[in-house]
Amino acid sequence: MKKILLIQTGGTIAMNAKGAGVELDPDSWSKVLYEEIPELSDIAEISTFPLFFEDSSDLNASHWIQLANCVEENYSQYDGFVILHGTDTMAYSASALSFGLKNLGKPVIFTGSQLPMSSIRSDARRNLVNAIELATMDFKEVGICFNDALYRGNRATKMSIGDFDAFGSPNFNPLADIGIQIQTRVAEKFGKGKLENAASYSDEVFVLTAHPNLNPTLLEGLSLKKIRAVIIRAFGSGNFCVKGEKSLLPFLDNCREAGVTVAIVSQADYDSIDLTQYTAGRAALKHGAISGNDMTLEAALTKLMFLLAHYDSKTDIEDLFQQSLVGEL
Ligand code: ASP
Repeated sequence: MKKILLIQTGGTIAMNAKGAGVELDPDSWSKVLYEEIPELSDIAEISTFPLFFEDSSDLNASHWIQLANCVEENYSQYDGFVILHGTDTMAYSASALSFGLKNLGKPVIFTGSQLPMSSIRSDARRNLVNAIELATMDFKEVGICFNDALYRGNRATKMSIGDFDAFGSPNFNPLADIGIQIQTRVAEKFGKGKLENAASYSDEVFVLTAHPNLNPTLLEGLSLKKIRAVIIRAFGSGNFCVKGEKSLLPFLDNCREAGVTVAIVSQADYDSIDLTQYTAGRAALKHGAISGNDMTLEAALTKLMFLLAHYDSKTDIEDLFQQSLVGEL
């Protein structure tokens, strides 16, 4: 029987209903787990590891590093890993780990739930059972299992606050669909050789959402000395205001002068940035911006954090950002 390590990090799946809201409940989660789902032991030999208990909105790179270390330290003893995690930032953590765990050869599956395990209509049981079963299979990458689908971690994004179908992977088909049978679509391995824990992430990235009537003088307060990359969440195929006093082009010039990388992703979930299509995109290219192609914000952001932590040269960082490292574009 396959051996799976179930790592607890918090989120709704580790919470208990309390009045109108939910609260983290570190003491009872593993008891609830075995009392509610004794059949889990039919699927795999499961060990649990309470790594931390946090609402996922409180997580940062230090937690991603703890997670990567936990996988690395237990790598030889287990066939697969399931990470219980809050849904709010699950796609960021999954993307960060996809870059940090180089040459991964075993499944690392994130899951969580929209309702706490103890709630009668909870989706926790189904997501957890599915995730554990997927972790016994032949995946060699970081995935997110939610509502009967397995998504590539760095392609997934949280799309719904209230639906059980909380995640989507707009630009890449699910790795697996879970029905009566589990239909696997893609089983790829990125990188050759042994697992390398390269989890290290810079915080010198700033995300700017373009919007109508954005006042560029507000950006004068941003210290370009403290950042090495800006991600602009642009409209559509990569557009933002380039006319008159609201033009963002002077800001792009300031970034270029300060040696700050400017990468463009889209506010639209589906399809890809194309900076050649409209005047604004072409101007962005001319003023030194690079394209995030069809990457999610989560993938683009954690990829830049990862690259900035590992490389000094702006040219290297920009080249690598535009290449697919672990299937993220
Ligand atoms: N706020 C929670 C979290 O991300 C939401 C959830 O788990 O669904 O930790």
